[in-house]
Amino acid sequence: ESKAAGRGRVTVFDEEMLSDKRYRRLIERELRAAVYLGELELHYQPIVNPDGSAYGFEGLIRWRHPVRGLISPAEFIPIAERSTLIDMLGEWVFKRACADIGHFLPGRRISINVSGEQLKRDEIVTMCDRVLKETGRSAAQFVIEITETVATAATPEILRRLEALRGLGFHIALDDFGTGHCGFNYLKTLPIDSIKIDRSYIRSLAHDQVAQIFVSALAQIARIQDVTIVAEGVETQEEFALAKAAGCNRFQGYFFGRPAPRDKVASLRAVHAEPLALSA
Ligand code: C2E
Ligand code: MG
Ligand code: MG
Ligand code: MG
Repeated sequence: ESKAAGRGRVTVFDEEMLSDKRYRRLIERELRAAVYLGELELHYQPIVNPDGSAYGFEGLIRWRHPVRGLISPAEFIPIAERSTLIDMLGEWVFKRACADIGHFLPGRRISINVSGEQLKRDEIVTMCDRVLKETGRSAAQFVIEITETVATAATPEILRRLEALRGLGFHIALDDFGTGHCGFNYLKTLPIDSIKIDRSYIRSLAHDQVAQIFVSALAQIARIQDVTIVAEGVETQEEFALAKAAGCNRFQGYFFGRPAPRDKVASLRAVHAEPLALSA
């Protein structure tokens, strides 16, 4: 929606199409079929340590539609979230990540995005547990990203599921932090291991003192709470330096690499084994 438009993407499904119930049904059917037709792809974007070495990778879903081309998750995830189709996509993503993780260097964590809709059902916990057993992977190799809006609206049931996922060994990350209404007091109560600061703050660091103070304060509180801070959307050397100075622990953004298919990213293994040659 606005997020995609803000990035200047070509929108495949316009408002008119989406307000038409029959049209939404058609997209839903196509999306369901896409799983079986192999049209879904999980791309990976590096998340780096302060020295530029790879901490891990975030898996980001794409739909390679035979007619419409490569479709952004910002367009089809909201459609999938209207039904249990999101559970099916969620399972596809986690299975894909479990299959792919062996292609990356040992010790690199893969992050996956879990929708707030998935967290409304116990299926998320049983599915993750089952897929881990089927694939022989350990939950400790994965980070589950949930958005700040989910966390602030979390019911006791959702909190229980997050605790259960954490009990299995998953790390939990709070995504897009700063876009919702998450107060600092939430950080004490939520079962989370890291916070991803939304790109809008990182972009403001260079010219907005309030953003600098916000990020620094968050980093200081996070340190006390034993939570890690990830800077999202780092596009320049300057943003990297400023985010580091503000106390962020990990970094993600086009400056380090765009999301790309597994083989393209995994072929960078030699590079990612060593700190990237960055001078900031
Ligand atoms: P997100 O989880 O916050 O993912 C980060 C988004 O920012 C990605 O967009 C990524 O390509 C983009 N990005 C990364 N670095 C930069 C940068 O330096 N500059 C800019 N302008 N953008 C950057 P993408 O891949 O289009 O995904 C959009 C959103 O769709 C994600 O936001 C996430 O909320 C959702 N999503 C993606 N994959 C999945 C999935 O498998 N399941 C679910 N439920 N949601 C997903
Ligand atoms: Mg994410
Ligand atoms: Mg994010
Ligand atoms: Mg974001």
